[in-house]
Amino acid sequence: MIASFAPPLPKCLRPSSASSIAAAADARRRLPGARASASPSSSPAASSSLSYGRRRRRRPQNVDGDFFVDTTCIDCDTCRWMAPQIFTRVDEMSAVFKQPADKEERLKALQALISCPTSSIHTEKPAPDVLVAHETFPIPIDEQKLLGVYHCGYHSEKSYGASSYLIVHAEGNILIDSPRYTERLARKIEMLGGARSMFLTHKDDVADHKKWRERLGCDRIMHSEDLEDSTAEIEIRLEGRGPWNLGRDIELIHTPGHTEGSVCLLYKPLEVIFTGDHLIMTPTGLSIMERYNKCSVTAQLNSVEKLVDLDFRWIVPGHGRRIEFKSSLEKDLVLKEFVQQKSGKPAYI
Ligand SMILES: [Zn+2]
Repeated sequence: MIASFAPPLPKCLRPSSASSIAAAADARRRLPGARASASPSSSPAASSSLSYGRRRRRRPQNVDGDFFVDTTCIDCDTCRWMAPQIFTRVDEMSAVFKQPADKEERLKALQALISCPTSSIHTEKPAPDVLVAHETFPIPIDEQKLLGVYHCGYHSEKSYGASSYLIVHAEGNILIDSPRYTERLARKIEMLGGARSMFLTHKDDVADHKKWRERLGCDRIMHSEDLEDSTAEIEIRLEGRGPWNLGRDIELIHTPGHTEGSVCLLYKPLEVIFTGDHLIMTPTGLSIMERYNKCSVTAQLNSVEKLVDLDFRWIVPGHGRRIEFKSSLEKDLVLKEFVQQKSGKPAYI
């Protein structure tokens, strides 16, 4: 099993229930003005690092050099999984532990800088090549094994830095959860065919869904149990327990627990499931992030069991690293063992 991991940290919610698709039809303060360097938000060009430095304090935990993380880091882990050769966790925040040594490492660092939900990563010197990094989004996850599946980048603080994804699909592209809205990313998604749907795994990771709907005209899909004021007008509500089909080869699986209306998206041809905050991988193994559960841990574990008999090898979560299992069978064994350990239940066949 190829895992990955990191301590993610969504802020979430409460217990649940979960067939048919009943259709109905930048985050916390971003630095205004000049910035000394590359910055995730808009213009990458340089400017006064002195005035900039007054507003953004370089953490002393960073090694000396161009890239640094400032004191506004929210410890969302994004930079650490996107560029693990550059960023690490020190004193409950990210920090640069090694400056990029070559072009490839610099690109990774710039992609992390662009994706940081709180614009907490910077360079001391002007970084015109951040424009090149912007052009790499959305980033293909694995061009061999997951063809047509992209990481959107541009994480939003509104969803605590959750990842969002794009599936390029013959029946219409699908955005999975909402990236931070940027016109630059919208244009890139348009170049890939736009988006027919925006599937929202649960209520925590909806971020700029309205802007994406307005810009791309995508129909938003979400379970009715997770609707709130900001999502009351979404186009497609999932009712009941599912599963629901989205086209001919995508299945939506109700996995209540983290929230009442948490739903995973299974893309059958590529054996990949998008789990939102339902199931992730941490340094010590799989996790359901009990700490952030506002629904029911018992229900969430029951929902993990629901994934055992599904055919997939990849887990692509809303936070942290992806997991690739050698086979669906290996995945089944790992999930069974996980549920057993967490719940004290005997392993079942
Ligand atoms: Zn959540």
